[in-house]
Amino acid sequence: MTVQPRFESHDILNQSPPYEDVDLFASDRALRDAVEANGAGAEAAALSEFGRHWGTAAMFDAARLANENTPKLKIFDTKGFRRDTIEFHPAYHAFMTESMKAGLHASTWTPDGKRAGAPSEVARAARYFMVAQVENGHMCPITMTRACVGALGVEPPVLAKLAAKITARSYDPRFIPWWEKDSITLGMGMTEKQGGTDVRANTTTAVASADGYTITGHKWFMSAPMCDAFLVLAQAPGGLTCFLMPRFRPDGSVNGLHFQRLKDKLGNRSNASSEVEFAQAFAWRVGEEGRGVRTIIEMVQLTRVDCVISSAGMMRMALAQALHHARHRTVFQKKLADQPMMRTLIADMALEVEGATALTMRLCRSFDLAATDAKEAARARLLTPAVKYWICKTAPGFIYEAMECLGGNGYVEETPLARLYREAPVNAIWEGSGNVMCLDVLRALSREGEAARAVLADLVRTCGDLPGAKEAAGFIAKTLSGPDGEAKARAAVEKLAMLAAAAALTESAPVVAEAFARTRLATPRGGTFGTSDLAESEAGELLNRALLQ
Ligand SMILES: Cc1cc2nc3c(=O)[nH]c(=O)nc-3n(C[C@H](O)[C@H](O)[C@H](O)COP(=O)(O)OP(=O)(O)OC[C@H]3O[C@@H](n4cnc5c(N)ncnc54)[C@H](O)[C@@H]3O)c2cc1C
Repeated sequence: MTVQPRFESHDILNQSPPYEDVDLFASDRALRDAVEANGAGAEAAALSEFGRHWGTAAMFDAARLANENTPKLKIFDTKGFRRDTIEFHPAYHAFMTESMKAGLHASTWTPDGKRAGAPSEVARAARYFMVAQVENGHMCPITMTRACVGALGVEPPVLAKLAAKITARSYDPRFIPWWEKDSITLGMGMTEKQGGTDVRANTTTAVASADGYTITGHKWFMSAPMCDAFLVLAQAPGGLTCFLMPRFRPDGSVNGLHFQRLKDKLGNRSNASSEVEFAQAFAWRVGEEGRGVRTIIEMVQLTRVDCVISSAGMMRMALAQALHHARHRTVFQKKLADQPMMRTLIADMALEVEGATALTMRLCRSFDLAATDAKEAARARLLTPAVKYWICKTAPGFIYEAMECLGGNGYVEETPLARLYREAPVNAIWEGSGNVMCLDVLRALSREGEAARAVLADLVRTCGDLPGAKEAAGFIAKTLSGPDGEAKARAAVEKLAMLAAAAALTESAPVVAEAFARTRLATPRGGTFGTSDLAESEAGELLNRALLQ
């Protein structure tokens, strides 16, 4: 990059160089260790190549363009016919092309829609973690496409029809019937005006027709509306049921999805999120009538994991930006990274990212093994909502603190921190907001109590003599099984996620596990980062691991 070193009035001094043209994998010790410990070490060279590509200045700039040039809804064509299409900036399409080429929408499935097996979840998660550091909006349809396959598995004829198009690695944005396309993407619509959490209150109706069902009603949030088909919930005669609604009817005409407007969102601006009416739209039933929640939950668990990966990735980028800046910026004759308080602050943040990274990859390992290992399945069931709760809720405050490390530069749009900060809250809100995640942990404990208690015991065993681990497990069990367990669930669920993070660190980064357990389980830090009691040697280790120089 050519820069103008001198203005008429002053030389430019002491500005940190842009954080770009980096290898997002090789420079991240926590990620490398977690990938290795969770079975995907053989992918290291490929992940490094991926990390170098996604860490280029061109990718960061494309992310800015995709978010500054937001999607537009085109309801009608020039002659007044309804089209209901979305127009995106070319940068958005470029990201879709890249992510689909890398298989982020489907690499955990075989071409016929079966689980690909270990270590496909961890390998995909590592890539997703890096993509999330650059551009998150386009990952909405990528996430939903891969997750919907989980639900379609209950309706083999529908899955058989679509699997090859879903798992194809090319991106085909054309607005034409799915059977004419090289590949397709999938979205989902559950949330209605009167309720998103309580989907049983859905008022959209479904009536059987000759070749499928006719759906009438609305969805208040339906993201990525240019997808080729959507999993939707609607009330059929037998109760709430899951359906797959394509953009084109079987006769080739445009289906009755009428987009009302796009949401004007805080962040997530490269992605379109619609309000939609279903005007006698055609759909296939997925699963039995009345089993809608049961069916769609297969998809929901997978989207929740992606919320976790995305938030952990954004935290990682915020940390890297903060540390990179601190290493280059001098204040009071010393680099910021050498000022004692800044060292403690960034080391404390690095410790949080160590925990989030190890925990995320360990959770994905459980998804890798769940089909053949009942213990891992129980672990995924209990921990997914707990981990989503903790990591997705931590990310916004974490990113804010990283932003402050850059001073005023952090607050302006030229750094990615402003965008990351606006993006972060959505992962906590959608696919089960914070309280709902805690209720889900309680549900897992009440429905699969024995298996869930075994998971807790296993976490304690893995932690060994880490400070605070046994006490944390006692607190979690007592609080969640107590008479006011629901009222006090947040404290216990947060602790559960941190206990699981400490356990994950003993497996992938034992060198920092003790510090994590001491400052998160035994003597919890204060309400802000930088309040942990860390020795200088621990801070040095954490900073070295955080961003290899
Ligand atoms: C950018 C964006 C994209 C989205 N995309 C989609 C999409 O593609 N498809 C889709 O279907 N939806 C989508 N949503 C909607 C999202 O999933 C819902 O907003 C979310 O599920 C919450 O539902 P709600 O808004 O109706 O809030 P409510 O259900 O009214 O919940 C409000 C609050 O109450 C809490 N709460 C609920 N029940 C309880 C309880 N029993 N005890 C204590 N607290 C409780 C919740 O945690 C939440 O904090 C999207 C949302 C956003 C912001």
